[in-house]
Parts: sequence; structure tokens; C-alpha cells
Amino acid sequence: MTGTPRILLTNDDGVDAPGLAALAAAAAALGDVTVVAPASDQSGASHALTIRRPVHLTALRPGWFAADGTPTDCVNLAFFHVLDRAPDLVLSGVNAGFNMGEDVTYSGTVAGALEGRLLGAPSLAVSTAHDAGPGEFAAAAAVAVRLAREVLARGLPLDAFLNVNVPRGATGFRVTRQGRRLTKDGLRAERDGGSTRYWVGLAPSDWHDDPGSDAAAVRDGVISVTPLHADLTFFRALPILEGWKLPGGGPGGDRA
Ligand code: MN
Repeated sequence: MTGTPRILLTNDDGVDAPGLAALAAAAAALGDVTVVAPASDQSGASHALTIRRPVHLTALRPGWFAADGTPTDCVNLAFFHVLDRAPDLVLSGVNAGFNMGEDVTYSGTVAGALEGRLLGAPSLAVSTAHDAGPGEFAAAAAVAVRLAREVLARGLPLDAFLNVNVPRGATGFRVTRQGRRLTKDGLRAERDGGSTRYWVGLAPSDWHDDPGSDAAAVRDGVISVTPLHADLTFFRALPILEGWKLPGGGPGGDRA
């Protein structure tokens, strides 16, 4: 990398979210900041691309753009339209609400960093408590900048990107693995005139007590740094499936 680092910011809470403002203010110390973020709250959008309608991009003010799409749309617009070359780093957040365990697969915040990684830039997602105030968003943004300096200096190993969760008042760091959710029933029914309607995704945040997990770090009041990658292959299951000796002659299959 030569010259001033170019930093792309996105989020899933929307372009007006206080966590994004805090991150932009902090990231200015890293280099030239460009923000391309969803026009509205896209929490839970995961890694979705908007493919059934066109996406509109609006220039809000210098360096700030909003798109009526998902975080993944925003990162693509930034890489292939807004910026004249790929950014040196992608930061996604600061999300209002931790992104831990299997929740990373629902998270638009994590997906913003994932997309940056897939397009070739080192990236990190940063989240804090759902009820964070300005001071807590600023603290989480400072954590992101602290890690971003490491990433800019060292790069990231292999295809990794970072999922960072910053609990209230935390200063120490812990490298963690993705935890596991305990509660899965997040459904609530309510009457709507003559019919019933349902809210989904309301499962409380209960976690297995895995000592090395993201959730354990947050419970302990420590900053959690989890390396993630896009490859969801469950490598320990490969030899088991190979033992099925499925016909077709694929790896481990029936070659007779
Ligand atoms: Mn969100």
C-alpha cells in the first residue's frame, strides 16, 4: 500500500445511524474515508444482493453515499462505481447489537465485511450493545480503528475477515471463535383483526458456555475478535460423508 489509505465504511443500521457516524469520525484518523451505506435499516439482511429491481445511489455530502439496497449492494457500488480503485480496508458498523454465534449468518453488518473480503480488501465488522449511547459507539469505533491499524500494517491471514464485538467499558482484547446460540424459538404471534400475524427473529440472546467463544468474551466484558471466512465447509464432516461411498466416483465415492 502506498499513499493515504482509502477506507470504505458501510453498515446495516442505515446511513443515519449513530454507530456509523461514530465510525466515520474515528476512521478519519486512518485515511480517506468514503461511506456507502443503506438508506434504511437493513439489519438482518445478511449477505443479500438486490437482484429483482435496480438500486439507486444518492450522494448525500462529500464522501457520503446512500443506496436503497443492502450492505452487500453498497460494497459493490463502492468498489465498482464510487471509488476509482479498491479500498485498502472495509469497515462495517458500528452495529447497535452484538453479532455473535450463528447470528453472524443473519447479520448485514458482518455481510458488509464479508463482501469487502470477497472483493479483495481486508475488512472488519464491529458491533456493540443494542442500547449503546454516543460514548459507547465512540468507544467501539476507537476499538475498530485500533484493530484497523493492525490490519493495515499486517494484512489479514488467508481469506479471513474480522468480526469484532465491543462490550460496554471493555479495553482488553480476546481472540475468539464463533459461539453457539442456545435459544432458537424467536416467533411471536399476535392478532391482527381477523387473522394472526407473526414476528420472527425475536429469540433472546442465550449462548452455550463455550469458554473461547465470542459470547463468553462479551459476557466477561472483553473485546471479542473472531476471524471468519466465507467458506462454510464443515471439514470434520468431510470424511464422514466420504464414508457414505455415494455412487459417481467423486471424492471418496464409489469408483467401482
Ligand atoms: Mn444492525
